[in-house]
Amino acid sequence: MNQKTSTGSISREWQELLDFDRHHLWHPYTSMIDPLPVYGVESAEGVKIRLADGRELIDGMASWWSVIHGYSHPRLVRALQEQAGSLSHVMYGGLAHEPAVALGRKLVDLTPAGLEKVFFCDSGSVAVEVAMKMALQYCHARGKPEKHQFATVRSGYHGDTFHAMSVCDPVTGMHHIYSGVLPQYHFAPRPACSFFDEWDPEDISPLSELLAENHESLCALILEPIVQGAGGMRFYHPRYLSEARKLCDQFDVLLICDEIATGFGRSGQMFACDHSSISPDILCLGKALTGGMLSLAATLTSEAVARTISSAEPGVFMHGPTFMANPLACRVAGESIDLLLESDWQRLVATIQNKLEQGLKPCRDFDQVADVRCLGAIGVVELHKPVNMATIQQRFVEHGVWVRPFGTLVYLMPPYCIEAADLEYLCQAVVDVVAVEG
Ligand code: PMP
Repeated sequence: MNQKTSTGSISREWQELLDFDRHHLWHPYTSMIDPLPVYGVESAEGVKIRLADGRELIDGMASWWSVIHGYSHPRLVRALQEQAGSLSHVMYGGLAHEPAVALGRKLVDLTPAGLEKVFFCDSGSVAVEVAMKMALQYCHARGKPEKHQFATVRSGYHGDTFHAMSVCDPVTGMHHIYSGVLPQYHFAPRPACSFFDEWDPEDISPLSELLAENHESLCALILEPIVQGAGGMRFYHPRYLSEARKLCDQFDVLLICDEIATGFGRSGQMFACDHSSISPDILCLGKALTGGMLSLAATLTSEAVARTISSAEPGVFMHGPTFMANPLACRVAGESIDLLLESDWQRLVATIQNKLEQGLKPCRDFDQVADVRCLGAIGVVELHKPVNMATIQQRFVEHGVWVRPFGTLVYLMPPYCIEAADLEYLCQAVVDVVAVEG
């Protein structure tokens, strides 16, 4: 590997490590024949990622929405160490532990009203699978097995496992090659009215028609509330979500909100559902749940859904992963929520939004840029053409920042603790790099 740097080359040990990595280890969405280079990471602290060659990068990604408090936060590290000393794991079948109870209490308190029953699982995609299975089992238990289909909107993304893939946008959702194998569900057009537009009542009509026509076969509508993430990084109007909630009630269809990306403050509200003051019937959480320290997800539902599932044959919910409610992950998640609630997170996120708007504004003047938009601690520069990953990634690293675009999207979603100067530097790096892209 040739990772020449301003502070010198990487060590022989790192060379060997990266060599093995290149030949044997699969990275997300990569080729095993011709993978793009990866950068060795020595450590990470606060908003800085330290590379194997000694360079420090300012992190603009929060490791895909998750590291909201920055890396190696001492409180999270301590919680993890303490928990590891007493109970790192134990099967959840037939056994209970304090970290899961404490976290469950916090989630029931914090999430939108009516979500009372918590199912812990391993990752976001699995939380979506669990949510979809809950919806199916709910209809089965009500003697309505014909309600076994799902509805969603275009430009959505819900994960990489099979049923999650079936409700991802068939084009931008990165899963089109599986289309022959995936169940075919119902897609309404993506919400057109943006978060910042005046509400256009026509925007909800296609979804309304879809539900009116198909409700007899639909068990649930699944949406990412307000922010469509990996399917296009778009922000839609809060009225769309509240209208969708009404339609679900009208047509006896459950509403599943996937807050795996948006949960815990990212969009400016604790949950994106709060922009519309609605409660879903089923809520998926992940990513920032542990402050990005460990993999943990949760699917919450109402008393009514949980009771119905449990009241008919087979009388139980049919899911139970080996690492369900892992004590390490639950303990860290509890600490992460405490940290968030003790902080002035809403002001921090609003300040980040403001700085992102200011800092990314110059990109609006570039011919290669289609749109610049910011909501909460998310800043997006959308280009007309897909970026060249090989060159753009290298340029960002040379600028001393960690920004990982995909497709036509260059975006920032830093840890909430980022300081003004670092955020300004990040935005300027995006402006400088996008200026020469194209
Ligand atoms: N839902 C949403 C909205 C997501 O953004 C993601 C991850 N990008 C997932 C589900 C899947 O989560 P995971 O990668 O933890 O399986």
